[in-house]
Amino acid sequence: MLSVHDGQCGLCSHFGEEHARNQVLVSILTTKQAPESLVDACGLPKNAALHLKVTPTSGCDGFQPAMMS
Ligand code: SF4
Repeated sequence: MLSVHDGQCGLCSHFGEEHARNQVLVSILTTKQAPESLVDACGLPKNAALHLKVTPTSGCDGFQPAMMS
């Protein structure tokens, strides 16, 4: 497992935005740990247009914290 820190994709609202309630994505928010093999789509419009795929420990200046619901 990888440790995920503030500002990284795994804690961003755009990470896997299309399926944000996915159990794995929700568990990253609660545990701040992510599977090492996980890659998912970035939903930030600029990046989504390029079909950017990122890991939970990637990041960019478009970071917006995901809200727990
Ligand atoms: S690439 Fe940027 S906008 Fe996309 S999920 Fe990661 S931090 Fe969020």
